[in-house]
Amino acid sequence: MSKVNKDSIITLPNLHLRQRSKKVGIINDDIKKIIDDMELAVIDWDKSRAHEVTVALAAVQIDSLLRLVIIRDDFDHGTPAKYTALINPEIMKYEGEIEYDYEGCLSIRSVYGYVPRHSKIRVKARDLDGKEIRLNATGFLSRVIQHEVDHTNGKLFVDHIKHAEDAFYKLTNKGDLVELDYEKDIKNSRILW
Ligand SMILES: [Zn+2]
Repeated sequence: MSKVNKDSIITLPNLHLRQRSKKVGIINDDIKKIIDDMELAVIDWDKSRAHEVTVALAAVQIDSLLRLVIIRDDFDHGTPAKYTALINPEIMKYEGEIEYDYEGCLSIRSVYGYVPRHSKIRVKARDLDGKEIRLNATGFLSRVIQHEVDHTNGKLFVDHIKHAEDAFYKLTNKGDLVELDYEKDIKNSRILW
């Protein structure tokens, strides 16, 4: 069996990232294995990075086109990672204000964006036992879930800021975000399509 690690994470311009994922039916061992693989991939990726912590991953990012995401229980870098799986997650309602914050994605190498998101959402999903979960997410969690549900629909954070010339950044080796040159680095690059 092939070993899952950070290199299992697909990145642009892989067009699978632009496809809509399929709904999960019965939550069997194959589905549980994919969730385990997603965790292995992010844990391995985190080990390789000094300034970043992975807060979530969608199954499409390990090239499995299923509506499955994992969200880290605690967004703190210092604690051991534990994740909760959301199966067939759906945003039922967008609420609150539009807020801007920085976002990155393991599937878009070295680019960060200053992305608008709703501050509050109502979410419906299933857990690993198939039980319905309903949650109201606010703040950063709301942002993270919107980013992941976008992945299940073949959408990426850059799609929200396509025309925002001052919204693209990169992370320096020291861990600072510096603005990218839209004309030179972004406009004709392969991240916008
Ligand atoms: Zn992402």
